[in-house]
Amino acid sequence: MAKLLVADGLRKAFGQTPALDGASISVGAGEIVAVMGPSGSGKSTLLHCLAGITQPDAGKVRYEGRKLTEMTDRERSALRRGKFGFVFQFGQLVPELTCLENVALPLRMDRVRRREAERRATEWLERLEVTDVAGKRPGEVSGGQGQRVAVARALVANPRVIFADEPTGALDSLNGERVMRLLTQSARESHAAVVLVTHEARVASYSDREVVVRDGRVRDLTGASRG
Ligand code: ADP
Ligand code: ADP
Repeated sequence: MAKLLVADGLRKAFGQTPALDGASISVGAGEIVAVMGPSGSGKSTLLHCLAGITQPDAGKVRYEGRKLTEMTDRERSALRRGKFGFVFQFGQLVPELTCLENVALPLRMDRVRRREAERRATEWLERLEVTDVAGKRPGEVSGGQGQRVAVARALVANPRVIFADEPTGALDSLNGERVMRLLTQSARESHAAVVLVTHEARVASYSDREVVVRDGRVRDLTGASRG
């Protein structure tokens, strides 16, 4: 499989503490990869480096062969807006906007006209089984509904990679399962890859492949070192 996103030898330290210490990982087009590991092991830092949010101290990240680590901030943010979608644990929706407006927002920022953006946002709310919250603000919906709205917003602009950092971390297991089922199903239908950070085996089981971050390096769960 052609590799869409490849990181090689990433190092990142905060003060004296190395968060990443030679981490390497690759993600194929449409592949769903779970990044596991204990709290503080460097999972989020790895995700942020892969997504071009954090610049590593050393090492390279390539997206479709283009080096993220050598782009200008402007080029990286254009890439994020055009090709990447994000789902975090909570709090990523704009509280002043309705759920429908939140989902339409990435399209509006791409200058899609309001009617068309809202039509496409409505389709995504249907796919995520949350049409009933379209006119509500994020503060008026349940945690599970909010995360499904966030998934709709992450996918609406047809990204090639979804970065999901503990997307079910604030949900009970029933709602967590529902979010994971809909997230992975939608990503597969859109042929989008997913980088899924989680410390829960149940959540990771929705992936095609699991890796573990330990001591700032990435290992396959089969035991073979990829670091
Ligand atoms: P995980 O996602 O596995 O919990 P993180 O990548 O968030 O791990 O953190 C790895 C290490 O880097 C931890 O020791 C954490 O405290 C530290 N760290 C992460 N982000 C920052 C930051 N912005 N400033 C200082 N230390 C950080
Ligand atoms: P779901 O399973 O879709 O997440 P719930 O069973 O949690 O939904 O919620 C059912 C109904 O109760 C929904 O119509 C929702 O708007 C409302 N609701 C649930 N939790 C909250 C909350 N924390 N604040 C406001 N409304 C909520």
